Amino acid sequence: MSRAADSSPTAASTSARLRGRCEAVIFDMDGVIVDSEPRHERAFRHVLADIGYADNHGIHFPDYYGKSDQLVWRDFIARHDPPHTHAELMSRREERFIEIVVEEEPIFEGIPELVGSLSGRTRLGVASGSRHSIISAVLNMKDLRRHFPVVVSSEDVSHGKPRPDIFLRAAELLGVEPARCVVIEDSVAGVEAGLAAGMEVIAITNSFPATALEQATLVVDSYEEIAAALRIADL
Ligand SMILES: [Mg+2]
Repeated sequence: MSRAADSSPTAASTSARLRGRCEAVIFDMDGVIVDSEPRHERAFRHVLADIGYADNHGIHFPDYYGKSDQLVWRDFIARHDPPHTHAELMSRREERFIEIVVEEEPIFEGIPELVGSLSGRTRLGVASGSRHSIISAVLNMKDLRRHFPVVVSSEDVSHGKPRPDIFLRAAELLGVEPARCVVIEDSVAGVEAGLAAGMEVIAITNSFPATALEQATLVVDSYEEIAAALRIADL
């Protein structure tokens, strides 16, 4: 159940705190803007099939949720010693993933409206563990790119989530104090990273149950609840 939707004093004060501190909103991308997690796995499976490992790749994908693509390929190479380099496998999977998202445009329902409503009232950024090529492909959809003056990829920082680096870099580029940034996240590592950066974090239950995200400032089930918490009247 959403804590934003009820009218308890706790929900009201959480919402007031979020509004009072919000000078910038920093969005995670995978699982927040784009429904990408199942498509990441499909892209891996396509590349594995292309190189002759359709059923015998030995990769158990749930073991890698929230971890980097590099780790999947590192383990695959260690196990099978294929004639392909790590870099080649990375780029083939990335190309396949981009083909899938461009074809299917799996932007979450409610995102264009939320982003459009926030844009102009507050500064917006994206802080994503994905590479820039993938972020660009996603933000080219639904006219999203123009709303985000700042885009930070894990390529731009030394440490990925759950370390705070990527959010701190986004705040710096937005010119807003970390304490005045609100992060929107879907993963446990992302919530941890936002809090470690000293930011307020709204967690949406797209990928994990509310119980796994309860460290966040606010846990919600929908984009409408995010708009309500930030009090955007026309959403
Ligand atoms: Mg995510």
